[in-house]
Amino acid sequence: MSKECEYCSGKGFITCNCCQGKRLITKPQVSSAGMGRYSPDRTTFTQNILVTCPKCNGRGIIKCPKCKGKKIIKKKQK
Ligand SMILES: [Zn+2]
Ligand SMILES: [Zn+2]
Repeated sequence: MSKECEYCSGKGFITCNCCQGKRLITKPQVSSAGMGRYSPDRTTFTQNILVTCPKCNGRGIIKCPKCKGKKIIKKKQK
């Protein structure tokens, strides 16, 4: 017995929960304050940079983890 996967509504994929389908994520990147010269209080700057989402490889969708993209779920029979 098999039935339509409810997790992805039978689509076989779901919106990436890492980037919420935006395909890009913001990643904090620490950059030192100036090359070879520190700021007086020696702080480092944290910049948010946009990177391609590593989970979905920039597609915004990921294969449904429940049905593995097959769109149907095999029902276990007792
Ligand atoms: Zn993603
Ligand atoms: Zn599914």
